[in-house]
Amino acid sequence: RIVYVNGEFVPEEDAKVSVFDRGFMFADGVYEVSSVIRGKLIDNEGHMVRLQRSMNELDMPAPATNEEIEAIQKQLIENNDLDEGLIYLQVTRGPADRDFAYPKEPKPSLVLFTQKKNVIDNPIAETGISVITVEDIRWARRDIKTVGLLAPCMAKMQAKAAGADDAWLVEDGSVTEGSSNNAYIVTKDGTIVTRYVGNQILNGITRRAVLALAKEHDYNIEERLFSVEECYEAAEAFVTSATMFVQGVVKIDGKQIGDGKPGPVAKKLREYYVEMALAEA
Ligand code: PMP
Repeated sequence: RIVYVNGEFVPEEDAKVSVFDRGFMFADGVYEVSSVIRGKLIDNEGHMVRLQRSMNELDMPAPATNEEIEAIQKQLIENNDLDEGLIYLQVTRGPADRDFAYPKEPKPSLVLFTQKKNVIDNPIAETGISVITVEDIRWARRDIKTVGLLAPCMAKMQAKAAGADDAWLVEDGSVTEGSSNNAYIVTKDGTIVTRYVGNQILNGITRRAVLALAKEHDYNIEERLFSVEECYEAAEAFVTSATMFVQGVVKIDGKQIGDGKPGPVAKKLREYYVEMALAEA
């Protein structure tokens, strides 16, 4: 696989970053993941805007303009002959002698790589996923997409240990989001419920697209807190992310949701999103 690191396209085994990179020492870095279909980036503009916002919130200088980054993404897709999958990009504040204070003259580092993956014909789309709820122990600025991901890694491992696929994170009795996706339920009267955006969750690019599609198709939407108990009573549940699109959730804490298959709303929204992605690709 060819990866990109600070100005060079190199085989992955030749790619190097400094041991003093602040991304490595302090998780002083931000990232984005965009999906790729038929070699084309999906909804990438939104990811670029969010990347800029994450860097701004951390006073992190940009290693390249959005246009330059997008050119690198396209080049890397071509170099790896990637038809379907994802492209990961990471910006860190770069190498500096270890000190909590930001360096006066940061040399931000930029790394990108691709991963092959079935995004559209993902078999999980048919079966759905199971989740458990766990306490949300992450920091208070989850709106910034940093590489400090140990809390969601722990949540994912708890889920695996419980025989589930993923975890939904809970704060003060309300679901914030999934370990790496936004979380939704559909009430028995057909209303789509998801937490409002703020510092407590990541403002998902797929979330925004899917809610716009839902609105367009006259679904009732409520952006509000929802409790774990409300999840158990829901008619449906689902998650969204750039690489999962819309994925049905069929079990929460061992309790079956709906008839144990991805529900009609989740299926419809997935269809609409795939249609939109294919139109872009
Ligand atoms: N929340 C969290 C915590 C995430 O890690 C992700 C995926 N990056 C999302 C939500 C979904 O965001 P997006 O739709 O932009 O991929």
